Amino acid sequence: MYDLLIRKPALLQLDGPNAQVLSAHDIAIADERIAAIAPAIDLGLAREVIDAQGMLAIPGLINTHAHTAMALFRGIVEDVSPADWFNQYIWPMEANLTAEDVYWGALLGLAEMIESGITAVADHYFAMDAIARAVEQAGVRGNLAWTVFGGMEATEALQRTVTFVERWNGAAGGRITSWLGPHSPYTCTPDFLALVAQQAQALNVGIHIHVAEEPDQVRAAVAQYGRTPVQLLQESGLFMVPAIAAHAAHPEPGDLELLRANGVGVACCPKTSMKLGMGVAPVVQMRRAGIAVGLGTDGAASNNSCDILETARLIALLQKHTLRDPQVLPVGEALSLATREGARVLGMADVVGVLEPGTCADIALLRLDSTRLFPQHNLGANLLYSVHAGDVDTVLVAGRPLMRARQLLTIDKSQVMREVATRMARLIERHPERRIQTYTV
Ligand SMILES: [Zn+2]
Repeated sequence: MYDLLIRKPALLQLDGPNAQVLSAHDIAIADERIAAIAPAIDLGLAREVIDAQGMLAIPGLINTHAHTAMALFRGIVEDVSPADWFNQYIWPMEANLTAEDVYWGALLGLAEMIESGITAVADHYFAMDAIARAVEQAGVRGNLAWTVFGGMEATEALQRTVTFVERWNGAAGGRITSWLGPHSPYTCTPDFLALVAQQAQALNVGIHIHVAEEPDQVRAAVAQYGRTPVQLLQESGLFMVPAIAAHAAHPEPGDLELLRANGVGVACCPKTSMKLGMGVAPVVQMRRAGIAVGLGTDGAASNNSCDILETARLIALLQKHTLRDPQVLPVGEALSLATREGARVLGMADVVGVLEPGTCADIALLRLDSTRLFPQHNLGANLLYSVHAGDVDTVLVAGRPLMRARQLLTIDKSQVMREVATRMARLIERHPERRIQTYTV
């Protein structure tokens, strides 16, 4: 007996440069996993049926770098330098945050992610117990890392994140994994990074960290330490455990080999990089070097949205544009960054990110009846270049519907927006002298 049968969607399968689409197959789900995919499965074998005729089933999308609760600050700061973005706006406003603010901000971000087909997110923020509660409630998968800076009281702050890891790793039926989250090599000394690496090894968890977001960070690291930021991470022992390198937009030639040899996954966040004028990771070069590259939305304070299909579109266009080569990142490969490759970055390859029997039933169903998706000569191309997040109709994680017919089932959207609205006046007060950190690059 199956728990659920998804009836007759077309099915996206990503293998190589082309996006293959199977027409009208049934997907049977049992015990949180895909049990069978076949042209026709007996409806009588399922407790529940979702009719998905005319829809497209895709693997749930993977967001490999986010600050979900920063949805609170969407649109608050535009058209400024990275230093002003941090020092005059974001870090002063983050000094205002309480755990409850973070909880409601996370629910707002998670609601938007579910509405755009995202089923797993690697989140890096503060008050992570509140984010974990939000992830538990929302029903998505979360790889959660508590941001910690070096400097004063860093050891105590790190200890707080260690107890967070112990409290939440494996929680929510295994949907939550918790890692350590040192902010970056420009806010943490090599000694502190080495301490974090030791703790991660002791806990047997990975590390999620920002690195080489803009060229000035690389220049500053070389001037101060005679090392690139990636070399600093490697020499501090961070790559002894699974690692997500967020951005990694400016690797020096030897850095790519370090990332590859140590199995470090890169979370590429092109929209933030473009908006803040920081430069975008050389994704084609990274993939040729054998590095796992996934896509991240980063926070909505810099991205303004939490949409991985938009991110996939941006990176495909950017790489074709930058390299002046329309053949790089073909449709299937660009879509794989949002799915299978993202799962690799999170250390969940072959478990999520593909639609195959035996994998977790993390699935998004998209409507195909809008004019922008017609005709359907190439559904993969429509998905990459023409779709809107609003075309996502239904989202399941571990076979459990989190949204059906665009109705969220685990988050009360109007309550979340009310709660966020009541907090706004206090949250956007800015006292730069009270900022939580200083960007000095
Ligand atoms: Zn970030």
